[in-house]
Amino acid sequence: MHSDRQPARWLADFHAAMVSRDKVQFQALFLDDSYWRDFLAFTWDIATLEGHDSIWDMLLHRLDEVKPENWRIESEDKPGDTAGAWFSFETAVGRGKGHLRLKDGRCWTFFTTLRELKGHEEKRGETRVAGAQHGVVKGRRVWQDGRNDARAELGISKQPYCLIVGGGQGGLALAARLKQLDVPTLIVDALPRPGDGWRRRYRSLCLHDPVWYDHMPYLPFPDHWPIYTPKDKMGDWLEAYASILELDIWNSTPCTHAEWDDTTKRWSVEVERDGRTITLRPAQLVLATGMSGVPNRPAINGQESFRGAQLHSSDYKDGAPYAGKNCVIIGANNSAHDIAADLWENGASVAMIQRSPTLVVKSSTLERYGRPLYSQAAVEAGIDADKADLIAASIPYRILPQFAKPVVARFRQDDAEFYGKLEAAGFMLTFGEDETGIGLMYPRRGSGYYIDVGASDLIINGDIALKSGVEIDHLSEDGVTMADGTTLPADLIVYATGYGPMNDWAALLISSAVADKVGPCWGLGSGTAKDSGPWEGELRNMWKPTNQEALWFQGGNLQQARHFSIYTALQIKARMEGIATPVYRAD
Ligand SMILES: Cc1cc2nc3c(=O)[nH]c(=O)nc-3n(C[C@H](O)[C@H](O)[C@H](O)COP(=O)(O)OP(=O)(O)OC[C@H]3O[C@@H](n4cnc5c(N)ncnc54)[C@H](O)[C@@H]3O)c2cc1C
Repeated sequence: MHSDRQPARWLADFHAAMVSRDKVQFQALFLDDSYWRDFLAFTWDIATLEGHDSIWDMLLHRLDEVKPENWRIESEDKPGDTAGAWFSFETAVGRGKGHLRLKDGRCWTFFTTLRELKGHEEKRGETRVAGAQHGVVKGRRVWQDGRNDARAELGISKQPYCLIVGGGQGGLALAARLKQLDVPTLIVDALPRPGDGWRRRYRSLCLHDPVWYDHMPYLPFPDHWPIYTPKDKMGDWLEAYASILELDIWNSTPCTHAEWDDTTKRWSVEVERDGRTITLRPAQLVLATGMSGVPNRPAINGQESFRGAQLHSSDYKDGAPYAGKNCVIIGANNSAHDIAADLWENGASVAMIQRSPTLVVKSSTLERYGRPLYSQAAVEAGIDADKADLIAASIPYRILPQFAKPVVARFRQDDAEFYGKLEAAGFMLTFGEDETGIGLMYPRRGSGYYIDVGASDLIINGDIALKSGVEIDHLSEDGVTMADGTTLPADLIVYATGYGPMNDWAALLISSAVADKVGPCWGLGSGTAKDSGPWEGELRNMWKPTNQEALWFQGGNLQQARHFSIYTALQIKARMEGIATPVYRAD
């Protein structure tokens, strides 16, 4: 046992064990409860292998083809409970980066990512294109001519290799990566302009995540950009992004249906453009239609008799028309709070109905403790967004709770008075079933929380009336009657009741058979509320091959759009180039 083994020595021993295929030597290098998180490099999947037996099995299946070599330590972590290091390596088809954490000289976590394909590297830095064509050329065609031609051809006389349905941040980030990889890509979006997804949300919305978390690929925000981007500014940024990165988008073009042809290995995708139905035939189809699926609109007795307005939160725009009116918000998560506060600011009388406990975390606390990797301090320590993304991804989901719990405990302690007041107001709180906070609730269910930017104080001091833990019985002509017999008067009811799962989009646009075959999107299979098992250890079906050939899901917050678009793009590029991409799935 080499209890003093340090990263460089470990990596050399690891390589030797792989070369000799020596199981005993290999298993001595990994702890029994070790984890290997791989983004494509070994598995052509986004997967975490748990335990040294499953790691060994994977290697046995994959080593001959992957042919890993040139393992090189790039930097060592500061000494701590574990000895860690960043390294680079090569496979037969690409180059990768990774990280390892050792405990007593044996590997606890191992992380490998494929970052580029050999022979298909992005042109950047030294290899960037010239742009200008110096000299004199008769009949010279300039950059704008080329752009015009490309626009006129793509989707008309030249089929895109990849079609992305949805041009929000997820679709745009992926298209930008594919563009750099020379994959002919077209985005279609139902809305008129890039960025409209943000613009059409309610007036007061600002990003809940700070600027360091939100950079898009290739084009970071300038360093004077505000910490919390207002939603229209975000919309404008995405529109500029699409233009600067020369993305090909058909806006005002809803996709209505898609079908896979197993014989031609092409999709047949119908879109509505300028009053005509156009059929596109891409080889790869990406649904970047938003991680929130179709809005949940609960059926409640008496809805038809209610005389006021009823809106789903996704249709709510502005509180101004409701000054002096009674407004009831059904739901108690992010949108519910933001909308309640907006209505209150506009002079409405607001009540919120909370059915189950909500995870609340103050935005300022989250900024202090929650995301140290995405902060000004991190930037000053030399951690840019890409590095931060890799550091965050180096911790497998299975062990994330042990990192998350102490953070939750700390902010519960710091904000104890605030939480006490919320509970005294009748608000039902949770910090996650296992006290792991928002860091786990987000990947598990993508909902169930409020990042407090002020509305909690309105609940504490009674400015927003709260009805919690009581079911709604029915709607009357002018209010909401609860099961305890009380009635909340209402001119407006907002259903802040969330969205259906993302694979609803597959059912809607392709078929329920395909949606069933693909299975749920998002969630880890943690067995906690709204994330039933079995344990998957990665977000289901996101950015990785699905059970439907050539169908991909791209979505999530800005950080995920940035980071995971690398891997979706490389998988699509590899398929376009005919590089073998056998997906390793543990039995
Ligand atoms: C109130 C609120 C606040 C949020 N705050 C944050 C935040 O601070 N930070 C953050 O990162 N995320 C935040 N989110 C989450 C946010 O929804 C996502 O980050 C973001 O919108 C996801 O981008 P996307 O590209 O995956 O999907 P979307 O932005 O939803 O884009 C999907 C696109 O698909 C298009 N589309 C759908 N169906 C079709 C079709 N059939 N044909 C053609 N086009 C179609 C839509 O028009 C839309 O443009 C917030 C969400 C809400 C509701």
